[in-house]
Amino acid sequence: MAPANRRGRHADGRVDGREMTFNQPLGGNEMARFAGIASMMRLPIAPDAAGLDACFVGVPMDIGTSNRAGTRHGPRQIRTESCLIRPYNMGTGAAPFERLQVADVGDLAINTFNLPATCDIITSGISDILDKGAIPLVLGGDHTLTYPVLRAMAKRHGPVALVHVDAHADTSDVMFGERIAHGTPFRRAVDEQLISPEMTIQIGLRGSGYSPGDYDWGRNRGFEVVTAEMCWHKSLSPLMQRVRERIGDTATYVSFDIDSLDPAFAPGTGTVELGGLTTIQALEIVRGCQGLNIVGADLVEVSPPYDPSGNTALIGAQLLFEILCVLPGVKDGA
Ligand code: MN
Ligand code: MN
Repeated sequence: MAPANRRGRHADGRVDGREMTFNQPLGGNEMARFAGIASMMRLPIAPDAAGLDACFVGVPMDIGTSNRAGTRHGPRQIRTESCLIRPYNMGTGAAPFERLQVADVGDLAINTFNLPATCDIITSGISDILDKGAIPLVLGGDHTLTYPVLRAMAKRHGPVALVHVDAHADTSDVMFGERIAHGTPFRRAVDEQLISPEMTIQIGLRGSGYSPGDYDWGRNRGFEVVTAEMCWHKSLSPLMQRVRERIGDTATYVSFDIDSLDPAFAPGTGTVELGGLTTIQALEIVRGCQGLNIVGADLVEVSPPYDPSGNTALIGAQLLFEILCVLPGVKDGA
């Protein structure tokens, strides 16, 4: 018999000898993929995270952006485009809905007129998910949200390891005099000891900066900074092997800014930089997180107004599925 997952569920659906069923995405032969209520991956909608192993949760905000806005529409369009995703990962063999109880718990009710209040709402909402024993997978929303999410993570787990994929370091001290913005979350996370700097890796950084030493603030505190140029023309699988060795079994948060991808793949975002990662490299990064003790993740900065094709949101949805597929208990039986 297959081993139980981390909450005592077996692959045959039993929990401690009792029968139970796993939520399944609504199939394409039950309701046309373009029809029905647009929950994430056509999963059931739950009022909260009670009884779940993992949940999708939206944070529809763009009031922390510094240039092009629109990420407030990200969660809704990610859900819409996610209707394409089928339950099995043909590349890795992962079958997350046979191992984990997953649902969409909807959006957090942010205050779109007040950024600090919104951060408190996010910390509270994510803490509630963690208190119920579920792993939150966050649909953004601008990157500001990672700061209040990490406050909840650290409250629960202590300082977490961080895999941060982005075109930008997001370690500015202030933006326009404000300490909370989408360019400051990882500065605040270090200030408040929400992450372990020596177990933080930033991948995909590039573009123009404010000074030649922009990336050194993190490096000087122990971050491993892997610029986009260091990734060009290469497989990132060897990098991820080193990341796994570095982090070990420490509780780990994955923050994926869609602008890490080249704008050829993901033009629908606010702060585009040329020369970015390929979608194949994105898969190598996420699949390379298999075996890490992931306690939460986000996919941020999808701005639907800047990609009328919907492909940026679709790629975001597919990356969230890939993250679901590497959560503890999906493939390792742990
Ligand atoms: Mn970012
Ligand atoms: Mn970015």
